[in-house]
Amino acid sequence: MTPTPDRLIADRARAIDVSGIRRVFELGASLKNPINLSIGQPDFPVPERIKAAARDAIDADRNGYTLTTGMPELRARASESLKTDLGWEIATGDTGLLITTGTSGALTLAMLSLLGPGDEIIVPDPYFVAYGPMATVAGGRAVPCDTYATGFRMTAESVAPLITERTKAVLFNSPSNPAGVVANQDECRAMLELCRERGVVLISDEIYDEFTFSDFTTSHASGDPSIARCPSPAREPGAEDTVLLVRGFGKTYGVTGWRMGYCAGPTWLIDEMAKIQQYTFVCAPSIAQAGCAAAFDVDMRPIVESYRVRRDRVLSTLGPHTEIETPGGAFYAFPKVPERLGLTGTQFVERCIERGVLVIPGGVFSDRDTHFRLSFASPDEQLDRGLAILAELLAG
Ligand code: PMP
Repeated sequence: MTPTPDRLIADRARAIDVSGIRRVFELGASLKNPINLSIGQPDFPVPERIKAAARDAIDADRNGYTLTTGMPELRARASESLKTDLGWEIATGDTGLLITTGTSGALTLAMLSLLGPGDEIIVPDPYFVAYGPMATVAGGRAVPCDTYATGFRMTAESVAPLITERTKAVLFNSPSNPAGVVANQDECRAMLELCRERGVVLISDEIYDEFTFSDFTTSHASGDPSIARCPSPAREPGAEDTVLLVRGFGKTYGVTGWRMGYCAGPTWLIDEMAKIQQYTFVCAPSIAQAGCAAAFDVDMRPIVESYRVRRDRVLSTLGPHTEIETPGGAFYAFPKVPERLGLTGTQFVERCIERGVLVIPGGVFSDRDTHFRLSFASPDEQLDRGLAILAELLAG
C-alpha cells in the first residue's frame, strides 16, 4: 500500500498552517526590484570579532557536539551578563541556564515542557507568528490577549481574566514583534506579581532586548546611570523563581542563521527543557556557540542609535497619515490602515506590493487584519523611498 498523507500525517501537523510571512515573500518574489520593508533581521554586517571567533573554532577543530546545556565558555559569558545586567546568580554547573538553537529553540522546549493536552499559554495579540503554532505542536493552545486597546501593551489587568486552571504560562514579549512596543518597569513588575500570585510561569521573550531605544530604557542592576537597559520582569527581586528569561543572539548581532539563543530561570523548568533538548536538538551549533561567546564584548549601541534615527523617520513620515504607536525598540512599526480607506490590512498590502513596496499584513500577526508591519532594518535610501510611497497610499 502506498503511504498516503490522509492516513499518516499527525493531527498536530494538520493543525498548523504555513507562515503568512512566507506567502508575502512569495508575492514579493514576482517583483523585479522590490523595496523590501518586510525583513525581520538586521541589515548590518556581523561584527568582525564574532566572525573571527567562529572561524577560529572551525580552525581549532571544535566541530563536535557540545554539552547539551552549552559550551562552558559561552555559559560563563551568559552567566556573567545575567549577573551584571539583572543581578541574577546562575549556579555553576548545568542548572538554571540553557544554551539553545535560536530563541525559537528555547520557546519550543519551554512549551514542550509545560503544555499538555488542553493546557493554555497566554500570548499577546498581535503576536510573533510562531507562538500559536508552537503551542499547538506542543499539544496545548495559545490564548490571545488583545492589546489593541492598550497601545499593544500586554498589561496585568488584561491578562488576569484570561488565566484559568489550564493556564501554565504567560508569554510576554518586549520589545515586541510586530509593534516594537516596550513595556515600562512598572508594567513588568505588575505582570510578574500576577504570575506569582496565580502560580504560572512568566516567559519573557527578550530577543530584541539590546534594541531598546534610549527614550525607553531603564537603569541597569548596578544602578550605574550611564548604563541603560531594556525594562524586564527579570529585573525584579527574586524573579528567577517565576520568570523564564529568553534572549538571543540572532537579531542583536546579525547572526539569525546561526540559530543561537539562551534562557535562564527556574531550575526545575530548565532541567526539563535540557532533558528534551538532549533528545531533540542535542545541542546548539558548536561553531555558532564559539562565535557568540565573543558577542558579549561587542558594543552595539551605535547601531541601536542609528535604528532610533530610522524609527524617528518612520514616525515623522507616516505619523501625519495614520495611527502609529511609537516603537521603543526592535526594528518594526505597526501602523493602522486608516478606516477612511475602507481596506483590510491584506488589501492595503496588495496596493503596496503593486507599488513595489513589501510590507506584511497585520492579519499574519493577529486575529485582526487592520494594520501592517514594516521593518526599518533596511538601508536608508530604501527606507526613504518606501516610506514616501507608504505615506502616499495612507493619505489615500
Ligand atoms: N521571538 C520573537 C519576538 C521574534 O521576533 C523572533 C524572530 N523573528 C523569535 C522569537 C525567534 O528568533 P530566533 O531566530 O532566535 O529563533
